[in-house]
Amino acid sequence: MEALPPPCTPTKIVGVGLNYRAHAREMGKPLPGEPLLFLKPPSAVIGSGTPIVRPRGYERVDFEGELGVVIGRRARAVSAAAALDYVAGYTCALDITVRDLQQRDVQYTRAKGFDTFCPLGPVVAPGLDPGRLRIRTRLNGELRQDSSTEDLIFSVPELVAFISGVMTLLPGDVISTGTPPGVGPIRPGDLIEVEIDGIGVLKNPVVE
Ligand code: MG
Repeated sequence: MEALPPPCTPTKIVGVGLNYRAHAREMGKPLPGEPLLFLKPPSAVIGSGTPIVRPRGYERVDFEGELGVVIGRRARAVSAAAALDYVAGYTCALDITVRDLQQRDVQYTRAKGFDTFCPLGPVVAPGLDPGRLRIRTRLNGELRQDSSTEDLIFSVPELVAFISGVMTLLPGDVISTGTPPGVGPIRPGDLIEVEIDGIGVLKNPVVE
């Protein structure tokens, strides 16, 4: 498998929780009234082809295939109408999560912050319509997530506007827009793939 460098160099990765209705249902959570944000550290970023290291001693480490929005220019309190002018393009993302820790810690820093827990790639694709992209995740070749960004609760322009009202977004920063239903555990020896039409396939093996 070809190991590619990450397609961008973020100063931060802003995650969005529960942004697909059907995923909120599968997690048994009510729909959020506004975007639920968390941060993943830039030290978690790896490119396509690089192994995800599953930490030992936890019950459940899950894949979450997501659309990543890559910022192209400094964005501070931009409107939803102008938001896409600040986007360089789109990439496939994996928001790897230790479920045990997500529940135990209440906040998500440790659960989602391990090294290698933010695969991105294979490329940053410009010029796509972020409101109608098919997103699929395969585990060992088996289809596990198959959805469309049409089902996002908060759209990409709404997310850029909302987040840039809280923190300045810088070129290379990534918004990971939330995962559709079908999340599940990964184990050493697995191969996880996220495919988004117009972008390509992000592929990462899992090691211990
Ligand atoms: Mg997620």
